Amino acid sequence: MTGRDTRKSGEFELIARYFAPLAARSAGAFGLEDDAALYQPEPGRDLVLTKDAIAAGVHFLPSDPYDLVAQKLMRVNLSDLAAKGAVPRGYLLALAWPEAVTDGDVALFAEGLAKDQDIFGIGLLGGDTVKSLGPAVFSLTAIGDVARGGMVRRSGARAGDAIFVTGTLGDAALGLKAAQGELEISSLLHRRALIQRYRLPQPRVSIGTGLSGAASAGIDISDGLASDLTHLCEASNLRGRIVQSALPLSEAARHVLKKDAGLWPSILSGGDDYELLFTAGDEAAPRLEMLARGSGVPITRIGYVEEGAPEVLMEDLQGKTAALEAGGYTHF
Ligand SMILES: [Mg+2]
Repeated sequence: MTGRDTRKSGEFELIARYFAPLAARSAGAFGLEDDAALYQPEPGRDLVLTKDAIAAGVHFLPSDPYDLVAQKLMRVNLSDLAAKGAVPRGYLLALAWPEAVTDGDVALFAEGLAKDQDIFGIGLLGGDTVKSLGPAVFSLTAIGDVARGGMVRRSGARAGDAIFVTGTLGDAALGLKAAQGELEISSLLHRRALIQRYRLPQPRVSIGTGLSGAASAGIDISDGLASDLTHLCEASNLRGRIVQSALPLSEAARHVLKKDAGLWPSILSGGDDYELLFTAGDEAAPRLEMLARGSGVPITRIGYVEEGAPEVLMEDLQGKTAALEAGGYTHF
């Protein structure tokens, strides 16, 4: 679509024009012309369902471009499916638009969804769109599946399992600081890389789908390493031990930390990385190596879990061990 379309269509017109094309690849969506969709899981597979909602002014800025907002909504949900070892299959939407919404806004939102549908190979199954008297609130239900009994739970870790993390930590938190003008980064390349990590998360879908049967427990890092690892340890009733020097950092983050070690809390507790955090036993090593090689995303061992109070202890860069406070970012 070209230019900014400021028309305002009715609900049915909006759905037919912008959302029905997104449902074309989902046979059971019936072109969004029936009251409900039909989804037939393959035999021997369990359905895995997750839902996240985002609100203007809380999870994104009212000035953010709507295609990026749509992609973020999609990706935070896909990240949850990935953490559970599930293959994404489809999704449902509920979109509450502010009164000032235009056809151009909706078109841009649908464009963002279309891009991610292609990247992640899923289609729209159904949903609803309404006008809101308040700010925009968007909700997405993602549907995935996994071999029967193979969903990776938070609670499955066994004492002695290693703790792993995908990708790099803290980039999104540093990117947010940079975008808000709270962090000076001299390298334009580093600045752009960090901000991009905040604006458009990369859910680790291909690694995630390979974790079913390999990871003993898992979670995605949305609220920060400290907070999400604490959740995993609490659910598994084990103590986590990690080593600060083992935490994987991007070149940009490394550079920023070298200048100001006071930014370490952003790495440990900053949210929005959407990396996967999981535990696995030694027998999973070949599979993890294959997943890292196949995806081009590193998988790093950062510690292990043991019997003990469900907390996280970290050996810091000076070799001192202390409890890692769970104070991750929460939206409430
Ligand atoms: Mg999660």
